[in-house]
Amino acid sequence: MRSAEVLVVGGGAAGMVAAIEAARAGKRVLVLEKKKSLGKKLLVTGNGRCNYTNRIQKNACYRGEDPDAAFQAIEEISHSTTVEWFLEIGILPAERPGYIYPASFQASSVLHALERELKLLKVEIHTEEIVQSVSERQHGNDEQGFLVESDRDSYLAKKLLICTGGKAAPVHGSSGDGFLFAKALGHSVVPPLPALTSLFLEGNFMKGWAGNRLQGSVRLLDAKGMCIAQDRGEIQLVDYGISGIPVFQISRFAAKALSEKKTVFLELDSMPEIPADDVFTELSRRKERAERMKSEENYSAADLLEGMLPDKFSRTILKQSAVSPKDSVRALDEKKLHGIAERIKYLKVQIKAVSGFEKAQVCAGGVPLNEIDIKTFGSKVKRNLFFAGEVLDVDGCCGGYNLQWAWTSGILAGRAIGSREESRDDTY
Ligand SMILES: Cc1cc2nc3c(=O)[nH]c(=O)nc-3n(C[C@H](O)[C@H](O)[C@H](O)COP(=O)(O)OP(=O)(O)OC[C@H]3O[C@@H](n4cnc5c(N)ncnc54)[C@H](O)[C@@H]3O)c2cc1C
Repeated sequence: MRSAEVLVVGGGAAGMVAAIEAARAGKRVLVLEKKKSLGKKLLVTGNGRCNYTNRIQKNACYRGEDPDAAFQAIEEISHSTTVEWFLEIGILPAERPGYIYPASFQASSVLHALERELKLLKVEIHTEEIVQSVSERQHGNDEQGFLVESDRDSYLAKKLLICTGGKAAPVHGSSGDGFLFAKALGHSVVPPLPALTSLFLEGNFMKGWAGNRLQGSVRLLDAKGMCIAQDRGEIQLVDYGISGIPVFQISRFAAKALSEKKTVFLELDSMPEIPADDVFTELSRRKERAERMKSEENYSAADLLEGMLPDKFSRTILKQSAVSPKDSVRALDEKKLHGIAERIKYLKVQIKAVSGFEKAQVCAGGVPLNEIDIKTFGSKVKRNLFFAGEVLDVDGCCGGYNLQWAWTSGILAGRAIGSREESRDDTY
């Protein structure tokens, strides 16, 4: 049995900054990390470029049962404090309207800077060590302590910080262990769900559109047609459904509705810049031109949409409007043109499922914030227990908000652990 003054479970984004802050305050910190090296997930963020925060910060960028509490913490350690924090360890920021990256545009430079700082502060790091259980262990002089058992050793920790992430992208290490640890220590867990992920749609028409991309807007609708969430940007059409950042942004709401056995629909507007009437007018104009040029014979329904929308998507729209792409434009009466315009603007398809945790970038759900002191990230259930990062019930929008949550909660937890009046007890 070994002793630890501060034991951090999980050496991801939150665990690393928390360990740095606690060590800066003079604490002896031990980090146990399951993977071969620290920050595996950090390396793949932002497509390897690490979108580590965002200049635009709003309450709505943070989701969960208590977004107000999450945002209270974000206001304490904001994006500007984060940028300064990273500047201090050598990371120069570069902004791409709102989205902030390291000037190197390499996630590896962020990870190396954190690892260098941990080394300078003599934080002890054990990689390839999997924590298997945590339990409460009373200390002689009435102190709350913890027994932490890994696949290699067991530890008596005076302060325990759980930073194991959620369940998203388990290949990078986070597979939900933290939820089990939280429950074992008396916490509840808001059921975890995949977020920032793609959607499976009902029907078998998607093979036809797979491979196309378009600039569009998506709305998530409930069974009564009420809009639950919406977003806009580059949409990717895939053989099982729909993907792309706007789809990621609404996916957590779809996951939630489906988990409650509710029916939800995706509505795609593939020409959001153009009002529905104008789309119809443009289709009519094209048809009239074909007639004027006496080229209806050679002018197909698919030709009618060429230059307006990507080819495979156009064919899908036509088929969904009960029009064969090969039909002559002559066969397209006003009613059919209205039908095509309608589907260009409001293609509505039922959502079958959200992609699972393997594909999700983040995990919704986790330890609820009402069980945490939002100033210190200390547990309200057990003294000397702390949580930070995605293990908590906060999931951010795409755009640097999830890492911002990891930095904010990690820094505040690390500082609180460092600032508490504790005498060093080497026998512990
Ligand atoms: C592909 C992808 C791209 C992303 N891009 C961005 C982006 O550009 N911007 C952004 O803001 N967010 C992004 N995210 C989300 C962001 O990476 C996470 O929200 C963030 O890393 C969460 O930090 P964390 O420290 O809480 O958890 P993690 O980074 O998941 O770290 C948890 C650590 O705990 C370890 N661990 C788990 N269980 C145990 C155990 N039992 N014992 C020991 N160790 C354990 C894991 O191995 C892991 O290293 C992306 C995510 C993915 C998957």
